Amino acid sequence: MKISVSGVPAEGMTDRATYDPAPMDMERLDIHLREPFVAEAFIRKVGQELVVKADIRCPLSLTCARCLEEFPSMVTTQSILSYKVQPTDVVDITEDIRQEIILAYPMIPVCRAECKGLCRSCGQNLNVGACRHHLVP
Ligand SMILES: [Zn+2]
Ligand SMILES: [Zn+2]
Repeated sequence: MKISVSGVPAEGMTDRATYDPAPMDMERLDIHLREPFVAEAFIRKVGQELVVKADIRCPLSLTCARCLEEFPSMVTTQSILSYKVQPTDVVDITEDIRQEIILAYPMIPVCRAECKGLCRSCGQNLNVGACRHHLVP
């Protein structure tokens, strides 16, 4: 999203952008972005600063650290970004939006709190069923 400082009215304005994550280098071994994400911004000028309140919703596809199954998730963040600007500047907030999403990634994705993971001996997904190492109680 590019914001032209001279185009921001005194009362502020809203803007919205949809991003294709493919060229943005946001993937991790266990995090994939397969759908576009949306940023909605409320933009204001405060003195020499451009203040952007950004609501970001980014669908993720995560790989569970315990059972290795992929599951859908969503990053939602509300960020305040501010920039020192001159009246003729055009500010591109795309890189900051990207950073905000990456900072909100889970450290260790787990599909659900009670995920049983894989058997260490045979690799059976214990959410699906028990193996001979884990007899059903
Ligand atoms: Zn899991
Ligand atoms: Zn087993």
